[in-house]
Amino acid sequence: SETVERHEFNAEVGRLLDLVVHALYSEREIFLRELVANAADAIDKRRFEALTQSDLSVPADARIRIVPDKEGRRLIITDPGVGMSKAELAQNLGTIARSGTLAFAQTLAESQAADKPSLMGQFGVGFYSAFMVADRVEVTSRRAGSEEAWTWASDGRGDYTLATAARAEPGTDIVLHIKADADEYLEPIRLQTIIRKWADHITIPITVAQDGKDEPANEGTALWRKPKSEVSEESYTEFYRHLGHVFDKPWATLHWRAEGALDFSALLFIPGMKPFQAVEGDRESRVRLHVRRMFITDQAGLLPSWLRFVHGVVDTEDLPLNVSREMLQSTPVLARIRRAVASRVLSELKMRARDSQDYATFWENFGAILKEGIWEDAESRKDIAPLLRFRSSALEGWVSLPDYVARMKPEQEAIYILVGDDTDVLSKSPQLEGFRARGVEVLLMADQIDTFWPERLDSFDAKPIRSITQGTVDLSKIALPLEADEAADLSKLIPRLKEALKADASDVRVTDRLVDSAVVLAAPQHGPDLQMQRLLRRAGR
Ligand code: ADP
Ligand code: MG
Repeated sequence: SETVERHEFNAEVGRLLDLVVHALYSEREIFLRELVANAADAIDKRRFEALTQSDLSVPADARIRIVPDKEGRRLIITDPGVGMSKAELAQNLGTIARSGTLAFAQTLAESQAADKPSLMGQFGVGFYSAFMVADRVEVTSRRAGSEEAWTWASDGRGDYTLATAARAEPGTDIVLHIKADADEYLEPIRLQTIIRKWADHITIPITVAQDGKDEPANEGTALWRKPKSEVSEESYTEFYRHLGHVFDKPWATLHWRAEGALDFSALLFIPGMKPFQAVEGDRESRVRLHVRRMFITDQAGLLPSWLRFVHGVVDTEDLPLNVSREMLQSTPVLARIRRAVASRVLSELKMRARDSQDYATFWENFGAILKEGIWEDAESRKDIAPLLRFRSSALEGWVSLPDYVARMKPEQEAIYILVGDDTDVLSKSPQLEGFRARGVEVLLMADQIDTFWPERLDSFDAKPIRSITQGTVDLSKIALPLEADEAADLSKLIPRLKEALKADASDVRVTDRLVDSAVVLAAPQHGPDLQMQRLLRRAGR
């Protein structure tokens, strides 16, 4: 005989339901994410319990089934998870265990529209999102390890019922009676799309029933959670292409798992080709954040913007499902993950830089972006510097700062650089004459950012970095290999030139920068160098 008990929601649940249904209305497709996340959690919980009670083990073909029933206007979500006892149904679905409505309501009111969906997860109220699309919800569940099944049912207004039920196996069925204005959630195609968007990487297969057949809806491989030894290069490439909507092969694949103080898996790629708009486009890192396989956001800024060319996934155990944007910005867990991930990328670059030809491919694609890190990231500046590459006045190919320093003349005081618009043009500049004649190498730079970062780095290996178009460069300590002509007496010429050029030049000086040419322009010692002045002029200042 059937028992039906009627229970009042606690007062908070009633208000909360109202809030959820109204505040999140524009985002209501996320009800499916929440219910699927709960189903996946339930399967994980059952797996965990089965570790000590083998009779609870999850069937090998476990999956989450989504079954739309158009005629009956019902959507059914079924999982073979741990299930809920009668008491658990009442506790989990009838009360607010954690934060309380008031706090939720307050945060909801204060947060931006885009953050609202994730708030539900944070407050442990995801289940109630079902009432955004359903005017009645029935949950039939059988706790693993028990014979009993119960049905919790409610129209989301004030009370719920608990009734005895029957279920052949442990697990849960959630039956949503779809609202008149929510027809779309009875369409298999629509449901597939939502799953692909929000739950593609849940490892448990998810199916959507269509014409009496269960069609797989997620790829569900969560490649990043597999041990490296079990993943083929083809799988990595396929995933990389899927992730970045690209067709090339990754230049680098970084796959590792951190355990201990931090618990996360990461699978990152550095593209083999420079994507369209790599430099001018969006400056945000788009590395995806997952929590326990569930996709949360690709806007967590998991990498600094100067590593924005890196694609991939970071999946952590250390955050609650669906953290809010505020939390993403403030949680120390994420800050630590960020640091760990960035430093891992840098050490990969360091390692790959040993093969200069291989590294050149990377450098030509993304070097200009990496340099931004010197400009804006004081903490990483010192680690980035040795990874930089330059054209040189002395030789073909790419040159690093350590290479340069190793070749410096014993009497040479600084690392000399020349910045312009085009390194080929720079290599013919008269500014280089005095340096060439003395066998002093000059680094040639022509990326936009080159006008800015050298000042921030200031020095490398205790050698100051000096623009050769700025101030007086003293090369007198470095002898010319051939005896130079006796310096002409310029003591009369200089004052006359100063007088003649006083409207245009703040000073006129003798220089040992030149060998063949008679004169060269220089910028004052303090203040912008010539390239910076050019940029400022172009910007109309
Ligand atoms: P959260 O998932 O953050 O705990 P929810 O409102 O989504 O919050 O769910 C509340 C609780 O209901 C869950 O913690 C879980 O104990 C229980 N629950 C929900 N769905 C299921 C399910 N399919 N199987 C078993 N338990 C579930
Ligand atoms: Mg949940």
